[in-house]
Formats: sequence, structure tokens, C-alpha cells
Amino acid sequence: MKLRKLQEVLNEKTDYLCINQLNSMKKHIFLVVGATTMLIACISNQEKTENRMKEFISAYEAKAIPLFKEASLASWNANITGTNEDWTKSEKASFELAKIFSDSADFAKLKELKESGLVKDSLLARQVELLYNSYLGAQVDTALLAKQIKMETEISKKYSNFRANVNGKELTDNQVEEILHSSKNSKELQAAWEGHKMIGPLVAEDIIKLVKHRNMIAQKIGFTNYHEMSLKLSGQDPAEVTAIFDELDNLTRGNFAQLKNDIDTYFANYYHLKISDLKPWHYQNRYFQEAPEIYTVDFDKFYEKQDPVKLVASFYDGIGLNVDAILAKSDLYEKPGKNQHAFSTDIDREGDVRTLDNVKPDSYWMNTLLHELGHGVYSYYNDRNLPFTLRDAAHTFTTEAIANMFGRLATDPVWMKNMGIIDSIECNKITDVSHKALRLQQLVFSRWAQVMYRFEKSMYEDPEQDLNQLWWDMVEKYQLLAKPEGRNMPDWATKIHVALYPCYYHNYLLGEILASQWYNYLTTNITKDQSFVGEKAVGDYLKAKVFMPGARYYWNEMIERSTGEKLTAKYYAKQFVQ
Ligand SMILES: [Zn+2]
Repeated sequence: MKLRKLQEVLNEKTDYLCINQLNSMKKHIFLVVGATTMLIACISNQEKTENRMKEFISAYEAKAIPLFKEASLASWNANITGTNEDWTKSEKASFELAKIFSDSADFAKLKELKESGLVKDSLLARQVELLYNSYLGAQVDTALLAKQIKMETEISKKYSNFRANVNGKELTDNQVEEILHSSKNSKELQAAWEGHKMIGPLVAEDIIKLVKHRNMIAQKIGFTNYHEMSLKLSGQDPAEVTAIFDELDNLTRGNFAQLKNDIDTYFANYYHLKISDLKPWHYQNRYFQEAPEIYTVDFDKFYEKQDPVKLVASFYDGIGLNVDAILAKSDLYEKPGKNQHAFSTDIDREGDVRTLDNVKPDSYWMNTLLHELGHGVYSYYNDRNLPFTLRDAAHTFTTEAIANMFGRLATDPVWMKNMGIIDSIECNKITDVSHKALRLQQLVFSRWAQVMYRFEKSMYEDPEQDLNQLWWDMVEKYQLLAKPEGRNMPDWATKIHVALYPCYYHNYLLGEILASQWYNYLTTNITKDQSFVGEKAVGDYLKAKVFMPGARYYWNEMIERSTGEKLTAKYYAKQFVQ
């Protein structure tokens, strides 16, 4: 009996130590009985631990899968009807799902399993890592968490209630944007810009308190500060993210400076000013985060007579990623009470994928539909054999990258031509200016994202420093905007993301960078057609290399496996800088 067991064990893959023990044991047959016990003990340590992990996962899935589905459906319904009743149901379902992760006894089990170092099977080990981060983030004293939510709610109310006072009139953010976008009167522009900035002093102190509170929470669960915690729990190493931002800074600095000169020349002429007299309110939006309208193509007119839903269905089908099942479950058009924006959601990770949109025949909605269905195909074409936890994107920014890559096609003249939206004469006519507009948009956004990432990182490292100065140092360095003389105001506190959507902004830029890396790989190695229209190989590649692997690899390993390189800003620079 024991000998048979030894043979069985020999047939199993055993680790190096065990095989060595085994070889020496075989020479001394009289020792077999005792040795077998040792051997089994040696193997079964790993096996036992892995079995305990499997049990943990089974128990977790039994609780989480039904609650996940319930919470996703409740949120979907609430976004469609907008009724208080549905929102209450949705909040309750999300709370029940989140509660799973705050269980401290389960966390202790998981921690022990992780720290044993004995969960070696790659799929199990990856699940340990992801689940551990989810549980760790929820191990916060509920009183501290409640205080954080209360502070955030108070700040949120101040933002919502604030109206800029411009020459005695109360203006919403949209009205401020409208003035900045259309006025040519410097006094009016300055008044709108300064009026909006008056939210800063109202919230700055509250935000600093909140930042310190978030830091305390992070320190209690073992992190240096909240920024580090946020990134690490989402599976990002801050040093790795900073390295990508440095790389992109180096690749874009020179070209952005040239482009900024062009922008300044354009605006000096537009406002009849000297370049040296241009101020931050002369750039058509509050933060210089979007491209000023220097190059204009009226894309909307090309879509007036088109049906974006038909176009998106036929495009994705053409690349081998049919989306009929997604569209059938989606809610595509405006309704009273319905969420006015757009999103994509994976209800059950088993094929029930939906997108919410408010489609109109224009270029914005063409871009948005391509974008949302990019998220959709990422979810829909997952590998149903993977465990539930791994049937997800490698990271939120990797699914954003796929969505961005497809969304960009809406204003790509070659795509529009190949989809039958414009003819080749029109295509040639708008190619150059379309590229310039996209390039300007990307470069302006990338410099702004540098400000956001570096400011937040530094603020959490030292919330006591002179943040007003830090903000303008970043704005001057990365966006090349000059601080108005003598200005010492908490302008950083006027950006709502700093207070309420912390440490996430960098993912928007990482998504753009990766979109370019995949686009370059696809157009170099998979197809010669830059529009992808009718190229089934594109869908085959994405399914095999991106969608099916789901979250089974660390995001940078997945990127390396799919493109041969880790995430790099090179291809973003190639597409938009040169
Ligand atoms: Zn998106």
C-alpha cells in the first residue's frame, strides 16, 4: 500500500528537494516506509496548502458570484430607470458584495496562505495575489472609513453647490467652459477663469485634512502613504508607473514645446495680443487639458446620415469579434431618467455583457460606441475556463487601452473611407488635418496628465508642503503655462479629481500609451491595413493574446507576452510626436 503510494508520488511532478530525497531513499529499501512518510509530508505541504487555497476559493466564489451578478444587474437597472428605488437596491447590493472583503477571519486565512509561499500553481498563486489585495484594501477600521466617506461627501457637496461668480452672475462649470471656449475678450476670459478658481479656497483645507486621513488609513495597513497604497492594491508599482511617465516626458518634451509655440502664435493672433501677454485663461478650457481648436474638421457632418449602431456591428463582425449578443442586451438610446453618459458592464463574466449609450448620429457617439464595444469584446471573449477571479481585464487601464484604440478610429479618415462613410477624395482632403488634430489632442492631454500624476504623488508624500507652489511648478514645467504674476491660490484644489477620484488619473494616460503600443504591433505584424476593416486576424490576435488570458498574468507580463515588450511610451511617441 505504502509502496504503491510511493510510485504514485514518483509519477507526480515533485519539487527538486523531494526528488533528491527520493533517489537517496531508493538505495535503502529498508528505509522506504519511513522515507515515504517524509516524502509525502514534503509534497503534501504544498499540496495541502494548495488544497486549502482551493477550498478558500470555492467558499469565496459561492458567496461572491451571486452577489457580483446581483450588484451588476441592480446597478444596470438603476442607471437605466434612474429611480430612487432602483438606486437604493443598487447601493445595497454593492454594499453586500463589498462586505465579503472586510471579513477579517477570511483575510487572516488568506494572509497565512499567501505568506506560506507554498501556493505555487500559477493560476492559484495569481488568485491569491488578486484576492489578497481586495481583502487588504477592505481591512480598514469601519469608523475610519465612515469618517473618510463623510469628509468626501462634505467636499462633494461644496463642489456641487459652487457657482462661479462672474461679474455678479452665478455660472455653472459648463457656462464657464462656454465662455473660455468662445469669448475673445481677455477681461471676460480672466473673470471666468478666476471666478471658477474661487472653489479652491472653499475646499483646500478640507482636502488637506482628507489627504492626511487617507494617509493614516494607508499607514495602518502597512503602506507609506495613500498614493502608494492605491497603486499597489490595484497591482501597480509606483516606481514602474513613474518610469513610464518619465519616458513619455522625455519623448514629448521637445515636440510639445514646438507645438506650444504654434499654439501661442495662433492665440496671439486670435486675441490680438503679444505672446508674452498670454495667460492661462487664453487656452479655451479651465486646465489646458484639451486641445485648443486650431485644426478643425467637422466630423459630425459625415455622420449625420449614418447609423453608428449598424456601423459598429458591421465593423466588429468584420474583424471576427461579432457583437450582436452584446448589442441585443444593451440599452442604446436616450430615455427619461437614464444615465446620460456611456459605459460597458460585464454582468456575470459568462457572456452577459452590455453597454449603456445615448446614441446620436454624430462623431462623438461613433467614437463612444467603438470605445464601449472595445470594453465589451474584451469581456465577452474571455476564457470561460478560467476561474471567476481571473475572468477580468489584466488591469482597468488595459481594457481602457483596447477601448481607446477602437474609439480613435471614428475620426480616422482611412477607417471612414473603408467603412463607406466618406469617399477617397474627402479622405485625402482631411487626412493631414485630422492627424494634426489628434496629435495636438494627445500631446496636450499627455502633458496635463503628467501634472496630475506628479502633483498627487508629491501631495500624498508630503501634504504639509506649499501645495499652491507645487501645483504651479508642475503646470509651468509640463504644460509650459506661465503662472499669473504673484498668484498664490490653491488652484490645485479646483480639480475635483484631486479630492474625490484620487490616484487614478494616470490610468487614462497609460491607456492611451498602451493603445498605441497595440496599434503599432497590429499594424506592423498582423495586418497592413491601418483601419482594421475586414481584418479577421485582428480579432484572432486580440482574442488569443489579450482577451482570453484575462487577469491570469500581471498586466506588464501580459503586455510583454502580446507585443514582445513591456509597456513603453515609444509607440505613443511614434504615433503622435514624429
Ligand atoms: Zn472606457
